[in-house]
Amino acid sequence: MDISVVVPLFNEEESLPELHAWIKRVMEANHFSYEIIFVNDGSTDRSWQVIEELGAQYPEVKGIKFRRNYGKSPALFCGFEKAEGDVVITMDADLQDSPDEIPELRRMIVEDGYDLVSGYKQKRYDPLSKTIPTKLFNATARKVSGIKNLHDFNCGLKAYRKDVVKHIEVYGEMHRYIPYLAKNAGFTKIGEKVVHHQARKYGKTKFGLNRFVNGYLDLISLWFLSSYGVKPMHVFGFLGTLMFIIGFIAAFCVGLFKLIAMWSGNSYTLVTNSPYFYISLTMMILGTQLFVAGFLGELISRNSSERNKYEIEKTID
Ligand code: UDP
Ligand code: MG
Repeated sequence: MDISVVVPLFNEEESLPELHAWIKRVMEANHFSYEIIFVNDGSTDRSWQVIEELGAQYPEVKGIKFRRNYGKSPALFCGFEKAEGDVVITMDADLQDSPDEIPELRRMIVEDGYDLVSGYKQKRYDPLSKTIPTKLFNATARKVSGIKNLHDFNCGLKAYRKDVVKHIEVYGEMHRYIPYLAKNAGFTKIGEKVVHHQARKYGKTKFGLNRFVNGYLDLISLWFLSSYGVKPMHVFGFLGTLMFIIGFIAAFCVGLFKLIAMWSGNSYTLVTNSPYFYISLTMMILGTQLFVAGFLGELISRNSSERNKYEIEKTID
């Protein structure tokens, strides 16, 4: 099969027939063999009935129905598990992404050899309250992930080589960072294509402003996991030791200065009168705590089932 289209959706009943007809038109014009996997993420409207009706009519339509709303990442994860096409395309259900981009996206994977091609909504039709934070978000994501050529990490329209979707694990709200997940799994040929974007035609957006707060927290976790996930002691132990040593030297100096003052007959007071004494004490305590956090992190990662999971591309026996 040439292409699997994975569509996560939550309450998008009005868009579905239109979206399906459009994808079908594009696929038939290009003679692709394909499937469309609609992942119904616990919709409370008629979305699932619409998918069932489409499925009864067209054999290429497949569906997964969640019992409740889990989020876009879990929906993508399950769609990826089911996908059978050589190229996998993900696309939002709200008709903001255009299926007309599919042939070119596929060509970039098959002919140019990209592992992942992300859409780039250069001209967006979204409110300002969304486009400005998005710019900031993408700049940070570029910096942290080291994927310098992507302008739009969170574009719903992306194309993947099949291998990629079978080897990454999208969870929580990590759909924003799929290129970063792919990079961490060893798929480094990541490209971008400028795509058309339209204003939402039906319904309303499913993500509020908290997307930005959660987005940054996820980015920090991902950065930490990919750099220190299996060696937490390297960061906590280092910081802890550093703080403890600074605190210890400072406390030592506070005591030493008092002794010198005593011996040389100058006036002196209790060390506890000096603010530096408390600062150094706090540093030593925090240093010890960080060190203990490192030990706990090591204990946890030693017991994790992920600790010896590597992406092996090929073997010769
Ligand atoms: N979506 C989903 N589960 C959710 C929220 C959203 O499957 O919990 C789907 C939604 O139906 C749409 C896509 O994810 O197909 C993108 O959502 P939306 O268009 O609301 O996001 P925006 O375009 O505002 O970033
Ligand atoms: Mg949308």
